[in-house]
Amino acid sequence: MSQVNYLSKVGKWSNPTHIGQLYINGEWVDPSENRTIPVINPAMGETIAEVGLASQKDVQSAILAARQAFDDGVWRSTSPHKRAKLLSKLASKIEDDLNNLAEIETVNNGKTLREAKGDVEEAVKTFRYYAGLATKPTGETFEAEEPFVARVVREPIGVCGQIIPWNYPLLMAAWKLAPALAAGNTCILKPSEITPLTAIRLFELIDEVGFPKGVVNLVNGTGVEAGQPLVESTLVDKIAFTGGTATGKTILEKSVGNLKRVSLELGGKSPNIIFADADYESALDYATFAIFNNAGQVCSAGSRLLVDQKIYDQFIKDLVEVTKKIRVGNGLDPSSEMGSLVSEQQLTKIKNYIEIGKTEGAKLVCGGNRLRTNGLEDGFFIEPTIFVDVKPKSRIAQEEIFGPVLCIIPFETEEEAINIANDSPFGLAAGIFTSDVSKAERVAKAIRAGVTWINTYEQNLIEGPWGGYKESGIGRELGIYGFNEYTEVKQIINTLKVEPTGWFSS
Ligand code: NAD
Repeated sequence: MSQVNYLSKVGKWSNPTHIGQLYINGEWVDPSENRTIPVINPAMGETIAEVGLASQKDVQSAILAARQAFDDGVWRSTSPHKRAKLLSKLASKIEDDLNNLAEIETVNNGKTLREAKGDVEEAVKTFRYYAGLATKPTGETFEAEEPFVARVVREPIGVCGQIIPWNYPLLMAAWKLAPALAAGNTCILKPSEITPLTAIRLFELIDEVGFPKGVVNLVNGTGVEAGQPLVESTLVDKIAFTGGTATGKTILEKSVGNLKRVSLELGGKSPNIIFADADYESALDYATFAIFNNAGQVCSAGSRLLVDQKIYDQFIKDLVEVTKKIRVGNGLDPSSEMGSLVSEQQLTKIKNYIEIGKTEGAKLVCGGNRLRTNGLEDGFFIEPTIFVDVKPKSRIAQEEIFGPVLCIIPFETEEEAINIANDSPFGLAAGIFTSDVSKAERVAKAIRAGVTWINTYEQNLIEGPWGGYKESGIGRELGIYGFNEYTEVKQIINTLKVEPTGWFSS
């Protein structure tokens, strides 16, 4: 089936002709080298679209457009109220397109429709939140010695290259674009080459909203061809990146040319600690949700489950029972509770980690196999998988698997739980389940991670900061923290008494 037929049927995409194009300087344009990349529906293993590939020349055009739009002041000098109005308008357009966007996300990423709808709702909230923030005061003042008056203002950084991954394609685009635009920057978005479709649909809506030319640009393409030129360009003032830690390190190295600002949202291997005094049913439910939601392809997934020795055997027995009931299937099927993995490459990587787990001596008590029956023959499905008695130093406990593979580690004391939790190069998130409020507070403080959840997991508040300690990243997204990452701080000192200093006698 041709891409037009397929996507107009599945996503009810009225005008999928832009799929082969890039959005530069307020216009849809063909890639200069007329090359495309196939986009796969991972639940069916079939090509559903051919997306236009940006060459380095196209990326340069986008950079120049964003540079000119920033330097001309068409956006940063636009009143915050006007910026807020356009961002709100975009939020409403995304909301009106919710079902369409969710279906496109599901057929491109493999996640369930329920998950995809949740992502679109969060994207709407993100644009609304930052539309609101655009008009709020951001400066500061302090008492300066007379005759001086001083104030601190926040100004947009400039041209922002924004590079995003495949696990939450639309939502990550929203987390990047909304604060940057609210603060008055101009943007070039580079989605993952694996999941570019919702970004293309988003830019159709952006085009309808009518941002000034060059303010917001889209370049689809590979990391090396479309991402790296953004990172290396001295005309780009900031790179905001979400993706793997190894890629983040490369980006940091390659960005030094003009000492551009860099924020990095990277991987994780988050501990989820279950104490014996926890509310048992909630702990069980969240332990499952934390790792199998979005098929485990979540940076903050609770992939290391630390279980109190006092309840260890029973908890594992119950967890395996619940996990075996998870309905894995095509994300478009409303009865599916866990969709496919995003790609064959991801499937291979996860299967490899399952083999590593076995050779390391961890005990496989659930799953571990690719699913190839009942309509799942050609898709990239894997069973929700649980390893127990995992050694804290083993590879499956230390490295990010980024799939539905849970590693369970027993502990005996609070101190031991904290030590195991912190024994990781990552520090993105953590969960703590206990009915002891004091213990919860002690452990939350002791864990070195950007977010710690108590008796809940994956509650993501737009108002709060999101980001990691250690190798999970640099900087924060969301809330005022994410907004500030898109600003430079300027101090303005004025004097109320104009006179020479008299420092030099002549
Ligand atoms: P990835 O690092 O392979 O790719 C991410 C993006 O970087 C893609 O758009 C890719 O094309 C681009 N890229 C690759 N090489 C590049 C280069 N040399 N220069 C510039 N750009 C380049 O990551 P992925 O596999 O798409 O995503 C999974 C990773 O993302 C996981 O590690 C996950 O933990 C992380 N992630 C983190 C967060 C967070 O908030 N911390 C959120 C989502 C995903």
